[in-house]
Amino acid sequence: MSSGADESSVRVALRIRPQLAKEKIEGCHICTYVMPGEPQVILGKDKAFTFDHVFDMNTQQGTIYTHCTEKLIEGCFEGYNATIFAYGQTGSGKTYTMGTGFDVNIGDDEHGIIPRAVHHLFRGIEERRQAATEQSRPVPEFKINTQFLELYNEEVLDLFDTTRDLEARRQRSNIKIHEDANGGIYTVGVTTRTVTSAAEMMQCLKLGALSRTTASTQMNVQSSRSHAIFTIHLCQVRVCSPDNNDNLTDNRLANDSEINEFETLTAKFHFVDLAGSERLKRTGATGDRAKEGISINCGLLALGNVISALGDRSKRSSHVPYRDSKLTRLLQDSLGGNSQTVMIACISPSDRDFMETLNTLKYANRAR
Ligand code: ADP
Ligand code: MG
Repeated sequence: MSSGADESSVRVALRIRPQLAKEKIEGCHICTYVMPGEPQVILGKDKAFTFDHVFDMNTQQGTIYTHCTEKLIEGCFEGYNATIFAYGQTGSGKTYTMGTGFDVNIGDDEHGIIPRAVHHLFRGIEERRQAATEQSRPVPEFKINTQFLELYNEEVLDLFDTTRDLEARRQRSNIKIHEDANGGIYTVGVTTRTVTSAAEMMQCLKLGALSRTTASTQMNVQSSRSHAIFTIHLCQVRVCSPDNNDNLTDNRLANDSEINEFETLTAKFHFVDLAGSERLKRTGATGDRAKEGISINCGLLALGNVISALGDRSKRSSHVPYRDSKLTRLLQDSLGGNSQTVMIACISPSDRDFMETLNTLKYANRAR
């Protein structure tokens, strides 16, 4: 997942979920075909799309993690921001893939990206502390904060705000998105939780997931009409470039603080479970819900334009339209540039979803 000069700064993976029991019972046919050994999918007879990775129906959660997230976490330890987002129509497997669903009945194998990333992060911290101790180097210090936001109608909601009543929450919410002098994006008015263990972070996530706003649609009563953004901030204070200090004895390093230069590295990692990408017509939404649909599309549209601009080297240097939506504004300093971005496009293999699947493949294709 490096972002070398010739590569797009956005990597795109396609995940095809297995057919659901209902689709099998109702006689849906599979209309996706993955070329063996190639990151290419063919939809229907002849619509071919190539991505950085294509994961067919039987791909395990652990495989997705290894290919799409592992390096991003390692990058955070070196101070690089990261964003991973799941895109696709409702029911295509976004929440399953990200692991924001918190189904208590699932086994360890079935855990999605976020729980794996959380454990990876704390394992990484422990390893770095231990290595320093063993080598009698100053132990690096870590501070981890999390935030959990929901974007709904271009309105930002704080999922760590535990107020039950949505209306009260909305009225109290006064969240602002700002940019600092270095181009860093920060928010004001958002609950930030400091966590010291994987278990604590998982607890935070669960609470947030519970309060996530959902509205029913004709397509799926659990259908989520909002974007959920879980963010981990990692701040690390460590001795500068340990490689350059090889000629010093370990004891001197440990005992003489004057010869140690410390550096502070910060990184953030956004995990984004995007709103369903389906068009309104099919969900039959009306009234308020139609309004939701319009602004959800505004976020997804802006995101599509941003990743397309990032992928197009001629456009990259000129204008990337981050300001066109709250979603892209929030993610601005973690998309493109030195950050690592992975988009996982989620699709259904069934022929009844053909048109939505085609739309998702086209959208994902713009990112390359
Ligand atoms: P979305 O968040 O895109 O609306 P979900 O993640 O809720 O979709 O997935 C819809 C249904 O499909 C859920 O019942 C989920 O458990 C199941 N599902 C999705 N992806 C997979 C997969 N890779 N393997 C097994 N079941 C899956
Ligand atoms: Mg979902």
